[in-house]
Amino acid sequence: QARDPHQPEFMQAVKEVMISLWPFIEQNPQYAEQGLLSRLVEPERVIQFRVSWVDDKGQVQTNRAFRIQHSSAIGPFKGGMRFHPSVNLSILKFLAFEQTFKNALTTLPMGGGKGGSDFDPKGKSNGEVMRFCQALIIELYRHLGPDTDVPAGDIGVGGREVGFMAGMMKKLSNSSASVFTGKGLTFGGSLIRPEATGYGTVYFAEEMLKHAGKSLDGLTVSVSGSGNVAQYAIEKCMQIGAKVITVSDSDGCVVDPAGFTPEKLALLMDIKNNRRERLTTYAKELGLTYEQGKRPWHVPVDVALPCATQNELELDDAKTLIKNGVLCVAEGANMPSTIEAADAFIEAGVLYAPGKASNAGGVAVSGLEMSQNAARLSWTREEVDHKLHAIMRDIHENCVRFGQNGNAVNYVNGANIAGFVKVADAMLQQGVY
Ligand code: NDP
Repeated sequence: QARDPHQPEFMQAVKEVMISLWPFIEQNPQYAEQGLLSRLVEPERVIQFRVSWVDDKGQVQTNRAFRIQHSSAIGPFKGGMRFHPSVNLSILKFLAFEQTFKNALTTLPMGGGKGGSDFDPKGKSNGEVMRFCQALIIELYRHLGPDTDVPAGDIGVGGREVGFMAGMMKKLSNSSASVFTGKGLTFGGSLIRPEATGYGTVYFAEEMLKHAGKSLDGLTVSVSGSGNVAQYAIEKCMQIGAKVITVSDSDGCVVDPAGFTPEKLALLMDIKNNRRERLTTYAKELGLTYEQGKRPWHVPVDVALPCATQNELELDDAKTLIKNGVLCVAEGANMPSTIEAADAFIEAGVLYAPGKASNAGGVAVSGLEMSQNAARLSWTREEVDHKLHAIMRDIHENCVRFGQNGNAVNYVNGANIAGFVKVADAMLQQGVY
């Protein structure tokens, strides 16, 4: 804390992991050797840089960008880029720290990293977004490479932004590798990558419910967010027979008791992804109410899938969900529940999955994209989906293995310990540097 006094999100993520690990390390003291824990909480490298670009009016704009190369213990640094005005060092350090354990959980050889900028793509023209992405890569390219650091998308960074960055990366590196994952299908992208985080979150929720003798089919679900993760979580819920009755964005939420249909989802995707308009437009076009300033957690549901951003579900929200009888909470976003909210779910016996376990499907398919690129081939949709499903089942099994607590499973402990053991073993074998 004394070292990083202005990094509350990073502190929160470290605290949550350390609380889980402490009893395990007391029983397995070899993991306290070689200064392992103090090395693990310090990123291997942090890059901060200026990005200057010219807007459509000919004015020069300057943003701040970062890349956090947290851990390369088990593979190249790997993690998304986030473009959002809230981006700062604390948020990216928390995300890179979490990513390290998440990537270990996928069983694929990927280290942990994260990056981004306080640039806001909302309201910018395609040309402005392209010039910003190119300016960012003019600096970042020297730190990237298929065996060094492999970025992807995150909040505010979808296929369009990845394409612009990958294009400039190719130009500057004089290599067709393009390095990024989440690329377009015509230049090395993987089928199912856009769907992977949302689908994976629902696969994980299904596994938790199955393990508890229940099923997602026929249950009601609240989803927060309306971006990439939320959209495909909604799609997979519908395919499984669950009814999704909420979506949200940073300004409010929409409650639709009749539930999503494929037609409503297609409209949402068109508004958000093609027209790049807000959720208010969606509410208006369907004659629904946009609840300004509200989150979806006041709505009674069986399953909650927070898919927007960090700390969007606080203790009071958790209490309301518990009072309303929620059975399962699986995080599609990174750290959407505060520590207090997560504790409340666990105490109340709710099946609660932290993002590093339940949203690992996105990076898992990114890992599969890297494998396909290295082998210069493309797997079918069915093959990738099958592998994604199998990885989510493996992560669930690993969480049960390390998190079984009497008759219940503590998925937070399970995910933290399983991810830690893999990274820690690699670090211990590689010596101190
Ligand atoms: P998108 O940019 O596609 O969507 C983000 C959604 O979250 C939007 O609906 C946005 O609303 C909302 N949101 C953003 N900031 C806030 C805020 N401060 N308060 C409330 N709502 C907010 O991003 P993704 O769907 O890709 O990412 C969502 C979450 O999932 C993030 O936590 C991300 O780290 C995590 N994640 C994403 C993965 C991926 O593969 N994309 C992989 C693993 C995790 P608005 O439109 O108003 O900004």
